[in-house]
Amino acid sequence: MTRSLHPLATLPAGWRTRFAPAPTGYLHLGHVVNAVYVWGLARAFGGQVLLRMEDHDRTRARPEYERGILDDLDWLGLVPDIGDTASFRAGPHPQRQSDNAARYEAALGQLDRAGLVYACDCSRRDMAQEVPDVFGEEMCYTGRCRARGVDKSAVKARRVVMSPGTERFDDLRLGPQAQEPEDQCGDLLVRDRLGQWTYQVAVVVDDMAQGVDVVIRGEDLLPSTGRQIRLGRLLGRGRPPLFLHHPLILKPDGSKLSKSAGDTGIRELRAGGATAASVLGQAAAMAGLVDPGRGLPADELASLFVDT
Ligand SMILES: [Zn+2]
Repeated sequence: MTRSLHPLATLPAGWRTRFAPAPTGYLHLGHVVNAVYVWGLARAFGGQVLLRMEDHDRTRARPEYERGILDDLDWLGLVPDIGDTASFRAGPHPQRQSDNAARYEAALGQLDRAGLVYACDCSRRDMAQEVPDVFGEEMCYTGRCRARGVDKSAVKARRVVMSPGTERFDDLRLGPQAQEPEDQCGDLLVRDRLGQWTYQVAVVVDDMAQGVDVVIRGEDLLPSTGRQIRLGRLLGRGRPPLFLHHPLILKPDGSKLSKSAGDTGIRELRAGGATAASVLGQAAAMAGLVDPGRGLPADELASLFVDT
């Protein structure tokens, strides 16, 4: 696509996107495919890349994974414009979710004052009794606790009411989309029974607070988009970010790359003698953006997305 025709070329220079790994494991080729899109599109169309650590899941996130991710980004030559790797190593950071609980607390308070929040004491078993729990399929919450008046001091889990209504957006790759959060997921869990902030609320609050204009991520998150647009609007975001969902890269057997990083982990590829350019080239080839076998230095990622 030529530079002038891409929708991202119409944004004011300095628009922001983000690379937002969860430090619940080390980087693997699936993350690098996402990074190729994020850095490539930002460099091609005048955007900036913000680095965020999505460690809201405190039961799975580990500091050593974060350190490993930062080391791999440095090695790959993927330099964020906002939040460099050294600033994350230095200590508390405005773009690390576990350092910013107050931000999510404030958002919950805002929604609560609007009468949109209730406590939920459902177990997964409670929910499965009302709707079938089909493996691999999203479980739609029935609203069981909405009218039960569960004591907020007794349980930590909170849900936000998703009223009926369609959310429409134009995905930059997939075109016009329409999603109905109430039918898809029901009232949205924003804090779980352990008191942890959920992905949905953390990412929406962060994208607002950090001025993210464009969300570039894998297609597996496409179903979350409508509810995130809705949550953002409930929190006062006037215009949602633009979304681009790229194809998810699967292993030849159809499994997700993250299931076994032994052959796709960046640390393993490094240890095996790969160069950064060969790893970026491999990721770009897996995404179908270049022919296999070509090395691709980080400073050439923009060339994947513009005709020069
Ligand atoms: Zn409930």
